[in-house]
Amino acid sequence: MKIKNAKAFKILNSNSNFTVQVNITSDAGVFKGSSPAGESVSAFEVTPFKEGLDQEISAFNDFLKKIENRQLSGLDDIYALEKEIPKEFVGGPSLSLSYAMVYALSHELNKEPYSLFGSKNTVLPISKMLGGGMHASNLGMDIQEILAVTLGDDIKESVDGTLSVYKQLKELLKNSTYSFVGGVDPEGGFVTGLDNYESLKMVKKAIEKVVEKTGKDIRLGIDMAASTFFKDGVYVYKRPIYGKKEVSSGEQIDLIKKLIDEFDLYFIEDPVDESLLEDYGKILSLTDNLVVGDDATATVTERLEKAKGKINAALIKPNQVGLLYKVKEFSDKADKMGIIKVASHRSEETRTTLLSDLAVGLGAKYLKVGINRGERVDKINRLLEICQV
Ligand code: PEP
Ligand code: MG
Repeated sequence: MKIKNAKAFKILNSNSNFTVQVNITSDAGVFKGSSPAGESVSAFEVTPFKEGLDQEISAFNDFLKKIENRQLSGLDDIYALEKEIPKEFVGGPSLSLSYAMVYALSHELNKEPYSLFGSKNTVLPISKMLGGGMHASNLGMDIQEILAVTLGDDIKESVDGTLSVYKQLKELLKNSTYSFVGGVDPEGGFVTGLDNYESLKMVKKAIEKVVEKTGKDIRLGIDMAASTFFKDGVYVYKRPIYGKKEVSSGEQIDLIKKLIDEFDLYFIEDPVDESLLEDYGKILSLTDNLVVGDDATATVTERLEKAKGKINAALIKPNQVGLLYKVKEFSDKADKMGIIKVASHRSEETRTTLLSDLAVGLGAKYLKVGINRGERVDKINRLLEICQV
């Protein structure tokens, strides 16, 4: 297909901040891409926008004029074009363009977007139950995310199990003495006044109730996003978990060990500061479950290489690098290293569902995505669509 015209413009993301959409016009129609952003970001990821968004979009539109009449026949053409994108646009603008190009190519080849990246495989959603940290404006628990995942080989059964936990949790919260009024954070996790420990207990209880009823294999996870409260070498808890407000690096590892033992944590994301890879390794030595890099690895292949032997799973957030060829490199490296891949939404999303296609095509085992809020549900629904048609 030939790009007749490409245009970038401003739209809102799900957290009411502006982002960029790119529309590509070809003889076959108009194809759209838009990029997410994160509230809690890694020092190792690219920034979505470099200067003022309006200036950047205007300059990006000048670049887009240069790609008029470009022919795209396969993913390699998209990757080659990405390598020509000036550095200042790598982030939100580049990813929006790449997503639009993937949709245009998929239409041209009459292939589902996921199949451009690989074959159909089972991806299970891992979803937020309770939100804290920056996602709850630092007003709630320190742990950024308490998650649930229903294991198995059937996406429908998995969604059903995790949704049951979410609904059960809502019932428990409604009937508790805490002032829960039904609010959710940007990723669809409930926000409450419960502290870290009470929150974990509440989600554990919800899981146990659903497991008792259904017999499903449902597990608890956390994203500690520990970098967000690591200040001058100390983890500073607003709501102490096991008694201490200021926790040293060594004590943080002990604290995580206690949490793993008490809550049988299956998924442990960024339990320590993103720069302290050795500490990730110490936690990995304590468990057979998933020790997951997000802020530590930031979808950057060199970071993944450095994390060898320190983590056994990593998030893939395409906007952390802004270019699909880099996402593919990261994914291939993870496969070589035996790292479990977890595609992930961001806290500030758009309605594009290409993330779900990437998760399926690249062979991710999980998709971290909310089970509430339209822009998240769209992505789960895309997984359900892919597995049922
Ligand atoms: C995360 O930290 O895993 C996350 C999805 O949040 P954000 O997009 O704010 O980084
Ligand atoms: Mg994270």
